[in-house]
Amino acid sequence: MYDAEKTLMLDEIQRMLAAELLDRLGGSLSLRTSDNRILATPNTAAFRRWRITRDEIVVLDADGELIEGGPYKAAAAAPLFTYIYRRYPEVGAIAHSHCLYSLVYASAGLPIPAATVGSDILGEIPCMRPEEPDLDIKTRELQQASTSPLPSGYSQRGEVYAVNERLGPMVDKILEPRRAELKRHGIAYSIYRHGIVVVARHLEEATENIERVETSAKVAYLKSFLESDSTKSDLT
Ligand SMILES: [Zn+2]
Repeated sequence: MYDAEKTLMLDEIQRMLAAELLDRLGGSLSLRTSDNRILATPNTAAFRRWRITRDEIVVLDADGELIEGGPYKAAAAAPLFTYIYRRYPEVGAIAHSHCLYSLVYASAGLPIPAATVGSDILGEIPCMRPEEPDLDIKTRELQQASTSPLPSGYSQRGEVYAVNERLGPMVDKILEPRRAELKRHGIAYSIYRHGIVVVARHLEEATENIERVETSAKVAYLKSFLESDSTKSDLT
């Protein structure tokens, strides 16, 4: 089932790899079908150099229960993404990337400036900075070792679920005031020291917006050297 959507997802993975927007350290793609199923890249996809087959794309219901897929569960961030799909019916796709220049800003805890005309539509990209480090949450969760089963399409690691769970309300703070924008373009945010996320109407828009953000981050970063050089020459 969902052949056209799976083909689109595999094609978008190839386009992102060619543009160096996906790497072996992470990232994920997901989309919502017309009957409200969620297609997500499988976990371990990045570590397997994105060599994934059509049958490995995981199909979930909106609550994270497995409809189709195997042998892998959905990407680790699936609990957060299904949360977004449930709360925002206008969202049809979510793309997540650890692309380099965006990650530079995210690691510094800085917003990514809109440095080009092409990025003006998305505006400044906010950095979402959880108060508690992932490592602390994972350590506590492992100590408490909850045995209650998670929805069958998610990674069954409770500590991964716990990290995702606390991000939902933080995402709401970014998306709720701006949700009218989703009728025209995606909304992007970065996660401190982690990467960027775009929520959008459809998958091609989400991945295209990732590229816009990354280009803007790259230009802003490189421009800062140019500007500091010209300041120096002005002073001499
Ligand atoms: Zn990631």
